[in-house]
Amino acid sequence: MIPIFALLIAAAASTPAFDDNFVDRTLRIDYQLCGDKSAQHIFLAGMKTDSVWAGRRHRLTELPLEGRGQLTMTSAETGDTLYRTSFCSLFNEWLDTDEAASVPRAFEHTVLVPMPKETVNITLTLTDPYRKPTVTLSHSVNPNDILIDRTTYVLPPYRYLHQGNTPDKAIDVAILAEGYSHDQLELFYADALTAVESILSHRPFADNKDNFNFIAVASTTDTNDVSRPKDGQWTDSAFGSHFSTFYSDRYLTTPHVFAVNDALRGIPYEHIIILANTPEYGGGGIYNSYTLTTSRHDAFRPVVTHEFGHSFGGLADEYFHDNEVYTNEYPLDVEPWERNVTTLADFKDKWESLIEADTPIPTTISETDTNPTGVYEGGAYVAKGVYRSTPDCRMKTNTATHFCPACQLALTRLIDFYTR
Ligand SMILES: [Zn+2]
Repeated sequence: MIPIFALLIAAAASTPAFDDNFVDRTLRIDYQLCGDKSAQHIFLAGMKTDSVWAGRRHRLTELPLEGRGQLTMTSAETGDTLYRTSFCSLFNEWLDTDEAASVPRAFEHTVLVPMPKETVNITLTLTDPYRKPTVTLSHSVNPNDILIDRTTYVLPPYRYLHQGNTPDKAIDVAILAEGYSHDQLELFYADALTAVESILSHRPFADNKDNFNFIAVASTTDTNDVSRPKDGQWTDSAFGSHFSTFYSDRYLTTPHVFAVNDALRGIPYEHIIILANTPEYGGGGIYNSYTLTTSRHDAFRPVVTHEFGHSFGGLADEYFHDNEVYTNEYPLDVEPWERNVTTLADFKDKWESLIEADTPIPTTISETDTNPTGVYEGGAYVAKGVYRSTPDCRMKTNTATHFCPACQLALTRLIDFYTR
């Protein structure tokens, strides 16, 4: 018979502690995601190391969500998995455009991982809407490689707007200024505080304030406003963000992901919100990459929270267009990886536990019940075959007052994953 304490030691040995394999530093890996509809490639663009590691120190080998890309770090010596994370990228979205049928393009993408003590192998994989791998890059990282950039930067001015816990325990969100001039520093801090207040007023963030830090980093420049290509206006803003991404007027993104992360060197951060100082309506949020939204518009509060739902929570859009019946992004015979929409292909791991037994599936919007949890048709841009949990949600409209139960469950699981 094996003594119980021996079993406990064996169990402990199977989940290595953070300190066994990592030092308290961040390794930042920059990639170029390249190609077109017919063939994709991933290239290693560079590596940098920065002060502290602000990410999780537990559940290191689990993915927070599936996303559209996954990074796996393994020990070069033993092959053991040491760390995993996931993300989405603008490249994935662009592959769905007409332009991607005719011209190959390159998109910057940055992943932050804890700095390994010994040589590791890294595998980066992108997946398609069918959740199948399309391209993989494997490369090794020797932590003693003299070409890992160790430049020490002078910290930009910054201010903690909300401090729930120490960076090693809390989820660290950095807020950057885009299109704010140097004399608009206080305006930026005020706008950043508005963003924080809006996010933390929504459940489940409201119930988890101690699990978040928000730090505003004053990346001000000589100019204000951002670029509006449809008006012929181009502005030399901090991160070169612009509307009309993929020729969609309201889609505001930045192609300069490396510059965004450069602006945060020395700052403990895991998630990024970029506030664009412009009255034009627009924004975008990319899971584990960044939120970018406009701070001078009346809908700033709901939009920044909606986009954070994408970039932090990996939530799908729940709005749809009545005449849209199909998108390449959401094939109807595949269960989407996002936790707030379903095709009913594999619903059991979504919000089924929140639905009362006698609720019809699909559910129709009743005139008497304003927000019952069910399975309502329409979501993820299409009117038919994709479903959401309630008629309205922060991920559907700017007039919604809260995240729906499916979104709240998904966000709570993710907050727990990062902090418990
Ligand atoms: Zn929702």
